[in-house]
Amino acid sequence: MAGRWAGLTLRSSAVVVGFSVCGCLAASVPTATRSASSGGTERGAGVRVVSVESAQVPARPLELVDPAVDCRTRKCVALTFDDGPAPVTGRLLDTLAAHRVRATFFLVGENVERHPEIVAREAREGHELANHSYSHPNLRRPSERVVRRQLRRTQEAIRRATGVTPTLMRPPYGATDRGVAAITRELGLAQVLWSVDPMDWRVRDKRHVARVVSHEAREGSIVLMHDIHPSTVAAVPRIIERLSRKGYFFVTVSELFGRPLVPGEIYTDR
Ligand code: ZN
Repeated sequence: MAGRWAGLTLRSSAVVVGFSVCGCLAASVPTATRSASSGGTERGAGVRVVSVESAQVPARPLELVDPAVDCRTRKCVALTFDDGPAPVTGRLLDTLAAHRVRATFFLVGENVERHPEIVAREAREGHELANHSYSHPNLRRPSERVVRRQLRRTQEAIRRATGVTPTLMRPPYGATDRGVAAITRELGLAQVLWSVDPMDWRVRDKRHVARVVSHEAREGSIVLMHDIHPSTVAAVPRIIERLSRKGYFFVTVSELFGRPLVPGEIYTDR
């Protein structure tokens, strides 16, 4: 049952996954928190960047996005971006639009409230929007009430910005357990982890990120990246170019599976 683990038997695996991203705790959280909590200056800068980029590459109407690819007959890979939106996300969207590539964004609720216009653009351009908690805590620690609130607030923020209600979530640090599984099941959210991790939060080098992703991606891979780092955003044109040359198509996580995922269950690849 590659890539699909029963939510309730995951605990030991979750520990391993948790470890693999524990470094992320050290490096990625302060960055995410910084982008989420640094008030007016950064927000102003973000709006400026986005408006300039929007002027250069106008948002394309949905009908111009390539139709869904059938991943039963094509080699598919899902690029996923966590922790945004951030000011640099606009540049990533330009790249994806220029290559007609769809991706999945695991959004932090407080960043959605800071940059609703970027999230609206993600939805308009055919990307999949998913829940990555409200303020990026380790969801294995707080009470059930807090976990539920973290996920619900983000669902509401995304719905307010776009009208879309996500059906996928990714627990911060990949840290999940029976309690998180039960709450995600209750809220109608499948848990999506990953199978390729270039550790882009630690190695801020576009060549490294592009090399790891293009070497490790396989048919059905889910690739974990973070659209809060300029080095990651700069790696994406190279990733698209190399994997396209190997015959891969880029799809959203839902397109990768081609069927509704089961709320509460955990998926790492297809
Ligand atoms: Zn994260």
